[in-house]
Amino acid sequence: MRILILLIFLIAQVQTFAQAKKIKVISTVSIISDIASNIVGETADIETIVPVGGDPHIYEATPRDARLVQSGDIFFINGLTFEGWIEELIANSGSSAPSYIITEGVNAIGSSKYENSYDPHAWMDVTNVFIYAKNIRDAMVKNFPEHAAIYEKEYEKYLAELKTLHAYVQTQINLIPKQQRILVTSHDAFAYYGKQYGIDVEAILGISTEAEARSSDVVRVAKVIKDRNVPAIFIESTVNPKMIKRLADDNGVPVGGELYADSLSEPDGEAGTYIGMIKSNTDVIVDALSKNKFSSTKIDDDKGDSKVGLIVIGGLFILLLLFGIMKMKN
Ligand SMILES: [Zn+2]
Repeated sequence: MRILILLIFLIAQVQTFAQAKKIKVISTVSIISDIASNIVGETADIETIVPVGGDPHIYEATPRDARLVQSGDIFFINGLTFEGWIEELIANSGSSAPSYIITEGVNAIGSSKYENSYDPHAWMDVTNVFIYAKNIRDAMVKNFPEHAAIYEKEYEKYLAELKTLHAYVQTQINLIPKQQRILVTSHDAFAYYGKQYGIDVEAILGISTEAEARSSDVVRVAKVIKDRNVPAIFIESTVNPKMIKRLADDNGVPVGGELYADSLSEPDGEAGTYIGMIKSNTDVIVDALSKNKFSSTKIDDDKGDSKVGLIVIGGLFILLLLFGIMKMKN
């Protein structure tokens, strides 16, 4: 009996030791956590600061976050002013753990509205996430070289999946008729997506959700909807849908569905992973923009017009022929 108790005690000790040994990765948002989880495998636990569905642009850190940051061994941050609050949070925690901006090396798009400011939504272009994954791998290898082989192997595996995703998005977007490739959303989160995959983007709000929508912005977007005969517009999972719904009602355009821009869905949802999120967005966009509320009748009209034209020309030709024959007889 005594040996048994001793054994149980020993197992518990080993377990605690193993748990304590596990690396703790802290990332700011769910998108980064998922990308990191594909690289670190079983070597680390990953915790996220902004909860699923939260808006990272306007997030306010809580006491729980301060404790979380204190316990981290390594931090992964998007940067490009996406999480303006993170540096202060880390500084206040007194943590000396290394932190990495994983957009390092990405060709950042400048903001059209704010000078000297960059668009943070680089993950919308899958080829940028090739760089995110590489940066995470390099940081993990540097800080935890004992697991280097795992990180190298997991990275290669994930990179192959990302390349498949990249090809999928391009093939799908190409299915939308060219003049209908226009993406209207709440905030300007799809510039990288549009640039890479060839779709125009228009949004009510700028690259951050911080500012309120101005009536001039609503007028600008409404004009685009009318001028481009936009088939559908989209709400976003982290932005209040009221703005887009009103714009849809006022302009007689349907809401094409919900897009995930700044957060994944719950883990068991359609956008529970980065790959799932990009795939879900692409499917929703392609489905809604491939339809055109006016195109079916328009095509029929065109066909009808040309048919009428042919009948008229044919009729005239026969009349002329008959006229000629009659003249010849006379
Ligand atoms: Zn955003």
